[in-house]
Amino acid sequence: MAKKKIVKKVAKKPAKKVAKKAAPKSAKKRVTKAPAKKKAKAFVTLNTKPSKINVVGDSWVIENPRFGEEGMHYHALGMLTPYFKGLTEGKLMGTLCTNPKCPITHGQGTVWLPPRPDCPDCHAPMKWKEIKDPKGYIYTYSVVERGGTGLEIETPYYQIDVRLDGVETIVKSYLINREPINIGDKVRARFLTGKKATNTCLDLYFELVK
Ligand SMILES: [Zn+2]
Repeated sequence: MAKKKIVKKVAKKPAKKVAKKAAPKSAKKRVTKAPAKKKAKAFVTLNTKPSKINVVGDSWVIENPRFGEEGMHYHALGMLTPYFKGLTEGKLMGTLCTNPKCPITHGQGTVWLPPRPDCPDCHAPMKWKEIKDPKGYIYTYSVVERGGTGLEIETPYYQIDVRLDGVETIVKSYLINREPINIGDKVRARFLTGKKATNTCLDLYFELVK
């Protein structure tokens, strides 16, 4: 009798039934979730947490919980602090060499952006200058569809290189628009200021001029 009972138990537990039930459920989930991801909003959004600013002399040292509390990112902005501080105030700050003894610029330097605190040619301190009403055009661009760990910009988005009026170098940033674009499209700079500021390079972004 005991043997018969064991046989019955085995027969009543077909592994196939369990597998059949599980498979359709996971398949259905995939079908319902995928379209939601494709419905990207018209404008790019950020996944950022507020960063704390520590002032050390003239420098900001940012505490950014970029990878959670265990992955706190400390970033000393040093002599580039005027640039990042400017962004939070809606100002785009570049630098230029005004040293008359500079072998390359002879004191007639053009504006660099991102800025450099010292001239790479004469090593003298560069002069800060605000780029007012910054406008330009898309020099080239990439479509970012998948970001790595810690990326604060929700994909998909355009990573753009911008040629700005009055600036010598080409600026790399991101576009807030998600609609189709072309090289040469006109853009203007925008800023995350006040409570919206991240105190990182993300505080500068661009939008299409229509
Ligand atoms: Zn110089």
